[in-house]
Amino acid sequence: MADVKLNNIDKSYDGKTNVVKNVNIEIKDKEFAVLVGPSGCGKSTVLRMIAGLENITGGDLFIDGNRVNDLLPKDRNIAMVFQNYALYPHMTVYQNMAFGLKLKKVPKKEIDQRVKKAAQILEIEELLDRKPKAMSGGQRQRVAIGRAIVRNPKVFLFDEPLSNLDAKLRVQMRVELQKLHNKLQATIIYVTHDQTEAMTLGDRIIVLNDGVVMQTGTPMELYNNPDNMFVAGFIGSPPVNFIQGEIRRAGSLNFIHEKSGLKIDLSELRNKAVSGFEGKKIILGIRPEDIYSKPQANSGHFAKLKTTSIAIEQMGSEMLVYVVLDDKQLIARFSPESKVETGKPVDLFLDINKILFFDPDTEQVI
Ligand code: ADP
Repeated sequence: MADVKLNNIDKSYDGKTNVVKNVNIEIKDKEFAVLVGPSGCGKSTVLRMIAGLENITGGDLFIDGNRVNDLLPKDRNIAMVFQNYALYPHMTVYQNMAFGLKLKKVPKKEIDQRVKKAAQILEIEELLDRKPKAMSGGQRQRVAIGRAIVRNPKVFLFDEPLSNLDAKLRVQMRVELQKLHNKLQATIIYVTHDQTEAMTLGDRIIVLNDGVVMQTGTPMELYNNPDNMFVAGFIGSPPVNFIQGEIRRAGSLNFIHEKSGLKIDLSELRNKAVSGFEGKKIILGIRPEDIYSKPQANSGHFAKLKTTSIAIEQMGSEMLVYVVLDDKQLIARFSPESKVETGKPVDLFLDINKILFFDPDTEQVI
């Protein structure tokens, strides 16, 4: 297996604008790295450059310490699994998995061993004689992964492999992929637009937006300490709530949201940098799960926000309460027994130890 390093990687399709901009990523040996970001942000382009399916416009790509910019895909020792499986319909599962090895003139006996071992790992031994059309989406996806495994690649690349599966199967396959990573102990680079997939699968997540790396970190680093509003808003579901207010002196320094009466004394915050924003606008970020229906005993300070609920979603395990502030929807995640009614006033209690602040100009965390 191998590490993968992208140094100042650029990509332009038209020779004018870069859709991937000075990307620096280091993926360690055996790491499960997830590239995540909205549609069109350049994820697939990055993956396809690693695979050798797209030319690299600028920068250097290293696999296992070797610069591979100019190597053909077949010489890079990587295997890619695509969203649409790309199986040969006229071949059985066995033939589909054996095909690449046959082309490489691997001895028949070895092919047989490798295909059977991969089938065993993926628990698809009983499907080896079937053709793709006689299989479910999940089974086809396994075969596509099997075809990658038999090649013993240094690096596995996955391009939105679960997108074509229904919601329930996607959840199952997420767990399967984790198990697979444990069994294979392989370097995996996985592309998805789905933050839940990124959070649940990645040892490390690389968040891309508009061709630029916004932040890299473990799932919990990104969740707890986002560098900017984009990452804060992208990681976590339902997403973080943003409230624009200002820092003003009212005796002591406070964050104030005039219309709702929300007021937070900065002396109660651990984050001292916020005081530098006296007299300026600032954006507060709070996750739905850090908002309560009443102050919690023994756990710090809470700031009260008086609002009116516009909708309630009872999920059984939790209750999502929707309110509107400054024409923007906010979501709170209450316990399911909370007494809230649609259209009635509701007080939100924000855990002030969990509040994030952002500079409205740079959108960077303060
Ligand atoms: P993602 O995988 O994040 O959805 P892509 O890497 O597919 O994003 O695309 C990034 C940008 O590059 C988009 O603006 C897309 O339109 C453009 N793009 C992708 N492939 C090509 C191509 N073959 N030719 C021209 N532009 C492309």
